[in-house]
Amino acid sequence: MLSNSLIEKDRAHYFHPVVPIRAHEERGVTIMQSGKGVFLKDAEGNELLDGFAGLWCVNAGYGHESVVEAAAEQMRRLPYATGYFHFGSEPAIELAAKLADLSPGDLDHVFFTLGGSDAVDTVIRMVRYYFNARGETSKKHFIALEKGYHGSSSNGAGLTALPVFHDKFDLPMQWQHHIASPFPYRNDATTDEEIIAQGVANLRAKVAELGAENVAAFIMELVQGSGGVIVPPEGYAKAMQDTCRELGILFIVDEVITGFGRTGPMFGCEHEDLTPDFLTTAKGLTSGYAPMGAVFVSDRIYQTIADAAPEGVPFGHGFTYSGHPVSAAVALEVIKLYEGGMIENAKTVGAYFEAQLKTLLDHPVVGDVRAKGLLAGIEIVSSKDTKAKPAKDKDVAGRLAKAGYENGVIFRAFADDVIGLAPPICITEAEVDLLIARLRATLDTILDVEG
Ligand code: PLP
Repeated sequence: MLSNSLIEKDRAHYFHPVVPIRAHEERGVTIMQSGKGVFLKDAEGNELLDGFAGLWCVNAGYGHESVVEAAAEQMRRLPYATGYFHFGSEPAIELAAKLADLSPGDLDHVFFTLGGSDAVDTVIRMVRYYFNARGETSKKHFIALEKGYHGSSSNGAGLTALPVFHDKFDLPMQWQHHIASPFPYRNDATTDEEIIAQGVANLRAKVAELGAENVAAFIMELVQGSGGVIVPPEGYAKAMQDTCRELGILFIVDEVITGFGRTGPMFGCEHEDLTPDFLTTAKGLTSGYAPMGAVFVSDRIYQTIADAAPEGVPFGHGFTYSGHPVSAAVALEVIKLYEGGMIENAKTVGAYFEAQLKTLLDHPVVGDVRAKGLLAGIEIVSSKDTKAKPAKDKDVAGRLAKAGYENGVIFRAFADDVIGLAPPICITEAEVDLLIARLRATLDTILDVEG
């Protein structure tokens, strides 16, 4: 079998991200071979519907020749150009201008990174620089949401609030704080208004505890992805933004997942007309065809930073591959696909997907279905009445992942019994039907979830 020797090499040498290490060695790697549209083929020839777009990133779907051509053409012409020393490349400049045009509010300046984690890291450094430049040197503390994910850089992983990213990593640090997640399904507050009021009160209380003069910024995802696809009520993010403005702290939106049509519009900010001070993005920016992330910086912040250093002194932050021309060429081509119909598709098929997913609520183990566009979570419970979690020894996540694969669908099976879904935004209604049918068949395999 093709994959046998690869499995052995993998076991011996490949230190994988975010897997239980010993369990991975025992199980062996699953190797993906090719993809087209929303479908993947593994090394054994099995065809699978990718309900998670790789790692919620292949928004445009697999196998777009125009993207491959754009990358190849750029590699032939000029594979690399730095952004340092006043240099640049055509695609990186065009992309910065395009993103400034697409972005909400006055986020007119774009700093390129390699992915989402270094985008968050970049924001943290820029926020510090900004307040130091303004002489507000005590503003050092950051507040984030419980169940939030902001990458795994040393700084970002502390803003992340998921235990496996903290335990044994000496996180969070003393300047990193968390307030409760606006989690509608598991919340004492029952109405949207109450959840929003609770969120605002929590933020105010944390700022009061730390002292507003010591708080730099609040960061949030518009839908909490890795925390279990938690969709806050409409109006929550706007209320948090308004509170930040009132309290004199910066408002950062992490759109690494929600950017580029994932929830319908190009950016999630459009749902509530948000105007953050910073926005981080990655993933869908290149649809996973090449690594790239970006930080969008508001004009006001940019001007302060630009004025701050003595003349001729560089802003001391950057990466060798910031604005990589091949990734930039890929992003420009992918954005053409988005603007050429995929964003419209994300809106219409996203609404269809949300409606079809809700039909799974009649399934005996489904406690909650939450979705925003083509981003969704299905929470498994052992009792719909009490919302009790399945017993841990039932290994619901592990069994779901296995059964899903056998039923021809890939999704993310979160350890806390949530199925995460984020199919490519080019998905059709017929493919949504297939996805739902395969999900239902998968759910049917775990009827014994009671503790
Ligand atoms: N922020 C959010 C909201 C994410 O979901 C992720 C990754 O999943 C990141 C940041 C980190 O991005 P990356 O994995 O590209 O470093």
